[in-house]
Amino acid sequence: LIRFDHVTKRFGENTVLDSLDFRVFPGKHVTLIGPSGSGKTTILRLLMTLLKPDEGTITVGGEYLNHEKKNGRLVPASEKHIREVRKNIGMVFQQFNLFPNMKVLRNVTEAPVQVLGLSRDEADERARELLELVGLGDRCDAYPSQLSGGQQQRVAIARALAMRPKVLLLDEVTSALDPELVQGVLDLLRDIAHTTDVTMLCVTHEMGFARDVSDCVMMFDQGKVIEFGHPDKMFSDPENERTKEFLSAVL
Ligand code: ATP
Repeated sequence: LIRFDHVTKRFGENTVLDSLDFRVFPGKHVTLIGPSGSGKTTILRLLMTLLKPDEGTITVGGEYLNHEKKNGRLVPASEKHIREVRKNIGMVFQQFNLFPNMKVLRNVTEAPVQVLGLSRDEADERARELLELVGLGDRCDAYPSQLSGGQQQRVAIARALAMRPKVLLLDEVTSALDPELVQGVLDLLRDIAHTTDVTMLCVTHEMGFARDVSDCVMMFDQGKVIEFGHPDKMFSDPENERTKEFLSAVL
């Protein structure tokens, strides 16, 4: 479903991703781990088209993200093409980024109405179901500032799911939460991973969560995947010295 081919991303002299290749198959849950600055967030930002690769190609669902085919040749993608491919991808950030001036329900319905063209009634119905799913069915009329951080993050998750994405990107979604709120959000994501067919690509420092939900863990260092595998193997018997060092510091 997701494919990176020889993707290089530089910021000035700094090569953050170095001819990176990987694939994520539909419905799989992949966790990206690695030291700070190894390029994990950059991968998610490339998938959200918040950044463009300097070299290489990215495809989502068989469609090029930053390119399109015209007369058999790859050319830079039009805005329209990028918008279409991006409809398949939802993202939840460390900072919840809710619209502060909109009630919870409206936060969840806005994109389905504006981007997918759903009627208000349809969008409301879907949003109420999702808010029920994330345990906030009774807070539809609250403003984000009236909710705890954990509740706001649940709204952000409902908002991402309201677009029925094929891919859900999660970028350290519990890092900004008070410790006592972390577990609730992780439990919710675990439920979503186990009960939906959404493909998840997740950057997290929560290794217990990574172990429970991931089909595959990818270890990054200096813009490359240096080891990948099932979490049971990666966490108990890593092969690469750098992975061993990293895991012994975080586990
Ligand atoms: P962390 O775990 O700390 O979030 P990360 O693995 O997600 O780290 P990235 O955020 O992808 O790392 O950043 C990789 C490198 O790219 C870092 O050296 C960072 O300073 C650099 N970088 C990221 N975004 C930019 C930018 N917009 N301009 C310049 N440099 C950037």
